[in-house]
Amino acid sequence: MRELLGGKGANVAEMIRVLGADRVPPGFTITTEACLAFLRDRESPHGLEEQIDAGLRALEERSSRRLGDPGDPLLVSVRSGAPVSMPGMMDTVLNLGLSDEAVEGLAARTGNERFAWDSYRRFTQMFGNVVRGIAGARFEELLAAAREAQGANSDAELDAETLRRLSRQFIELAEADSGRPVPRDPLEQLREAIHAVFASWEAPRAIEYRRLSAIPEDLGTAANVQAMVFGNTGPRSGSGVAFSRDELTGAPRPSGDFLANAQGEDVVSGTRTTDDLDGMADTAPSAHEELLGVLGTLERHFGDMQDVEFTVEDGRLYLLQTRAAKRPAQAAVRFALDAVAEGLLSEEDALLTIDADRLETLLLPTFDPEAEFEVLVRGVGASPGAAKGKIVLSAAEAIAGGEAGEDVILVRPFTEADDVAGFHAAKGILTAEGGRASHAALVARGMGRPCVAGATDLRVDLEGQRIDIGERTLLPGEQIAIDGSAGIVTLDDVPLVEPEANEYLEEVLGWADRSRKLGVRANADTGADAERAVQLGAEGIGLCRTEHMFFGADREESVKEVFIAAERWRRIVALERYASERLEGAGSEAAALARGEFQAQLAKLEELQRGDFEDLFRAMGSRPVTIRLLDPPLHEFLPVRHFELELADAEASGDVDAVNTAQERLELVRGLAETNPMIGTRGSRLGILYPQLYEMQVTAIMRAAVTVRAKGNDPEVEVMLPLIAYEGELSELRELVVTTAERVLGERNSRIEYAVGTMIELPRSCLIADRISAHADFLSFGTNDLTQTAIGLSRDDVEGRFIDVYIDHEILDRSPFEGLDEPGVGELVSLAAERGRRGNPNLHLGICGEHGGDPKSIAFFARIGLDYVSCSPIRVPVARLAAAQAAILAARTDRSPQ
Ligand code: ADP
Ligand code: MG
Ligand code: MG
Repeated sequence: MRELLGGKGANVAEMIRVLGADRVPPGFTITTEACLAFLRDRESPHGLEEQIDAGLRALEERSSRRLGDPGDPLLVSVRSGAPVSMPGMMDTVLNLGLSDEAVEGLAARTGNERFAWDSYRRFTQMFGNVVRGIAGARFEELLAAAREAQGANSDAELDAETLRRLSRQFIELAEADSGRPVPRDPLEQLREAIHAVFASWEAPRAIEYRRLSAIPEDLGTAANVQAMVFGNTGPRSGSGVAFSRDELTGAPRPSGDFLANAQGEDVVSGTRTTDDLDGMADTAPSAHEELLGVLGTLERHFGDMQDVEFTVEDGRLYLLQTRAAKRPAQAAVRFALDAVAEGLLSEEDALLTIDADRLETLLLPTFDPEAEFEVLVRGVGASPGAAKGKIVLSAAEAIAGGEAGEDVILVRPFTEADDVAGFHAAKGILTAEGGRASHAALVARGMGRPCVAGATDLRVDLEGQRIDIGERTLLPGEQIAIDGSAGIVTLDDVPLVEPEANEYLEEVLGWADRSRKLGVRANADTGADAERAVQLGAEGIGLCRTEHMFFGADREESVKEVFIAAERWRRIVALERYASERLEGAGSEAAALARGEFQAQLAKLEELQRGDFEDLFRAMGSRPVTIRLLDPPLHEFLPVRHFELELADAEASGDVDAVNTAQERLELVRGLAETNPMIGTRGSRLGILYPQLYEMQVTAIMRAAVTVRAKGNDPEVEVMLPLIAYEGELSELRELVVTTAERVLGERNSRIEYAVGTMIELPRSCLIADRISAHADFLSFGTNDLTQTAIGLSRDDVEGRFIDVYIDHEILDRSPFEGLDEPGVGELVSLAAERGRRGNPNLHLGICGEHGGDPKSIAFFARIGLDYVSCSPIRVPVARLAAAQAAILAARTDRSPQ
């Protein structure tokens, strides 16, 4: 019942079933439905009051205490909990039910005055912060001042008198700043706290988190009201978070954070530096022992690695929450492997526990193990991977830096969930306080951002905009490097290296390969990329963009000259054709000259391309390689600015001939400018206008294949024609490809198998896929351009500008360039696949847009029966796993009774 009760509520109920009612405090849950109704109308929906009353009565009965009873009050927590876990993004109020009278009652009943006032202090703090919206820092300042005044090192040392004064101050602060009284009536407190928890669904950080994690906006949060247990009663109490296995590496040994004489908020908020579970073994040995047993039980019950929140009250263990642990990719893979070895899960079930999307982070760089460097400070490795960048001290600056294309490291005194967008923008995160179990660490791991937490030797002075480490001072903008696996920080420019192949990953992907039906190829343009792709398990190249071979210092000049010559010649021919109707044979000499120049330039380029193709074929052995002929608009190679400068230079030199030439060249280039280049003279349109270009490319491809073949490889060549809209374009160009290929093979007296196909990037080509496929051996969906042309959306122009707003307005929940727009673009793909196969039953079907590396889109492509996906090399492991997961889930749905 996660949808209705939220993950926390559902799992607490489940824990009571598994562990028994005496280990889990009782409570009740107000549903997400009530939350959605509240958010819509901004008032208690009909029936909510009754729900609260009924739940409360049952709870009072079970715990034999009454809310607000001045002698022996029932205290509760009011906890948010969405259907999808959003650690720390929403709010919770603890110790609710205290008032100036009830706190005395609590003190008298427990005989522990300090505890009672500490609880009241916590309640007033959280009520003021969460329900009245006063910044948390205001309370923390007062707390810090109190600690200083009393000479206390931690909150646990504050005495009852100080805590009493703080409670008073907190209430005054909340009332003065909000202009509204803090209710003394606990029932009123409860109602307001439930409303505040509901409203925290719409806190900016929660919205941001959902955007970054693609969580729908319309889920809402449940509110869980639960009897309190107390980790703050004294030295034999405490609170913590535990993982059933090491949360960083996945090694089969529980780990976590613990803080003696404290409540859970201190641990998860990341504002206090915690002890680890071994520390707990000293404070509360039997609870520790019991916890280890419980972790195993919960893991077996849920069939997954667990992340548990617990409290020890006077030596007695209580469980407050359990959920599937968010884990970095290395832990996910290790867990899958161990879970199968331990007989906990089947291979298929184990594969389903891994978040395919995150696998990429396994390939994040680390510090070069050979490198020598000076350690500046050490902290806790809170999220693996290494990163380098300039220091920034706020989330806003991290975002600005990220937008400016800079590598930044976000350095904070402690992390707050509010920093979430800054995390995303930063290359890495470094904090002075906090442990591995803080929400911030969880979020960093979820996003695959390296993080070092709890580097306690750092003093981050936000006001003074500086960081002090002993005698040393660092300023924003300075370069720093962190290793989030080892927890190390340095100022040295340590070389980063790609990680060694991960043996665990290889084994798990081996299972995936056995389960999947979809082929996985890579998009690669160079031999080096191709090699990496093969290492990562690519079965071929699904897209080599030849225009990328046209860039680079030595090439650009030669490419420019090709196009200048081509255009000059084309114009002369066009002019002559027009003139020839009146003026026999004029100008043919000029045409011949221009043609000769064009051919000479092409020959140069052919040689360069041939070398590139040889590298590619060599790297791919006998795997298929799809090479797309030239696609982008001509003027992209011919920046007007360049030719303006050329003219200026010529004018400065005073050489009349040079000026004339430069003027003519500039005029040619200007003539090529287009208003709408994305839908201008590009793709196969170029091939029809300048057949010599494609002829040159096919010549280079076939020559390279013959050369490589002679050295023992057996390349499987696939020539792909871009942006076909009409079947006639394809039949004409196919003819050109075949004629050229046969000519080259004839010259070399060799035989190479090759296929000719096209990229499907236009709605029109989807609709006529049956006619197109009559001339094609394969179709590959270019879903980037297909998304642009189907939606009428120019990615570069608008993505950054309005997609975010659309997500805000809930028109979209994700950019259609990241996740395939299934009802629109997906429908076109599926229709084209079906029509294409109708036109050519032997047709091979693939997809080579960025969606080929997105797990959800991959599941769609698997469902409609494509043969392969092709993605960037680093996403190949992601695609292999996602394809397997899609196949496993599809088989299960087929099997399950309707
Ligand atoms: P979050 O979603 O931010 O983790 P929770 O609702 O889990 O918020 O509450 C935060 C912390 O408060 C928990 O880690 C837990 O330790 C503590 N807590 C919540 N409810 C109770 C309770 N009934 N008794 C004791 N501690 C509690
Ligand atoms: Mg929690
Ligand atoms: Mg394209």
